[in-house]
Amino acid sequence: MTQPRMPIESGVPDHFQYMHPVMRKNYGQWDWHERPRPGVLHHVAKSGDSVWTVRAGTQRQMDVYTIRKLCDIADQYAEGHVRFTIRSNIEFMVSDEKKVAPLIEALEKNGFPIGGTGNSVSMISHTQGWLHCDIPASDASGAVKSLMDELHHEFTHEEMPNRVRITTSCCQINCGGQGDIAINIQHTKPPKINHDLVANVCERPSVVARCPVAAIRPAMVNGKPSLEVDEKKCICCGACFPPCPPMQINDPEHSKFAIWVGGKNSNARSKPTFHKLVAAGIPNNPPRWPEVGAVVKKILRVYKEDARDWERIGEWVERIGWPRFFELTELPFTKYHVDSWRGARHSLNASAHIRF
Ligand code: SF4
Ligand code: SF4
Repeated sequence: MTQPRMPIESGVPDHFQYMHPVMRKNYGQWDWHERPRPGVLHHVAKSGDSVWTVRAGTQRQMDVYTIRKLCDIADQYAEGHVRFTIRSNIEFMVSDEKKVAPLIEALEKNGFPIGGTGNSVSMISHTQGWLHCDIPASDASGAVKSLMDELHHEFTHEEMPNRVRITTSCCQINCGGQGDIAINIQHTKPPKINHDLVANVCERPSVVARCPVAAIRPAMVNGKPSLEVDEKKCICCGACFPPCPPMQINDPEHSKFAIWVGGKNSNARSKPTFHKLVAAGIPNNPPRWPEVGAVVKKILRVYKEDARDWERIGEWVERIGWPRFFELTELPFTKYHVDSWRGARHSLNASAHIRF
């Protein structure tokens, strides 16, 4: 009899092998937990075992020396186990409370702040930027590093009305960029086509099909097959650029940053929401993006002063109303804030519930 062909498992490796032994032993058997201070979690299992988790911030895009340094700290002070959160905080686990203070001291001495728990501004999640992706108009990780340098206090203290989740995204069809505050690239001009390259590089039907507003048509230019863009229809989304790099849309001047506010993924207290545009046309200004930082800090300051306890940013804005939000933050309200795209009401999902 022939053996059945078994599937080849090539996905995520089994995580149990890397788990701290106390966590492995008590998996699914946790009784209660507390936060003794910002950046430290204490979980107690039904068996009576305890584990303390110390959360630290990193620059996320790390060189090998930084990773080795973090591993050395884990070996020396934290029983040799680490894990990363979905927002790229690093967490060290210890099974003895006496080890918490020396671990914190070692991390802080090496420049890794402790925090990101509870009602703080946790690490900003971001997309890949210039380092890894082929279509970014900015360096999301660089903008994040600059911003977190300025939000150090908000990371290490739990002083916000509720948790704050910030994201950035380095193109407009972004693979990230949805949160309480989202800092996303915004193209402001249609793509410029390099007609000499289109015939060699692009599959024209796929590019035409990519455009969400049917603004691209096949065309003959200088006797060669190429494409043309109806600039009146184009919404400058950049979706044509990945399949066809000769449709260059990234531009140091015309690719700007926009800031969106009030997105929420969870179902807690209120249904999930999409964020709304609050500031556009902000210069994409490396290496420190000061204009982006100024707007984000202004929004955070007003939220901290004006929101009630436990209101997320979106819930706070819903309560006070968008006109009041613009008044308090002193951000100008322009015609660009009005979503006049006719298809939006059909395509925007407003909750995480499954629908058919
Ligand atoms: S947001 Fe866009 S450019 Fe940035 S990593 Fe994702 S796909 Fe690439
Ligand atoms: S940028 Fe977007 S809307 Fe404009 S042509 Fe390309 S795919 Fe179409």
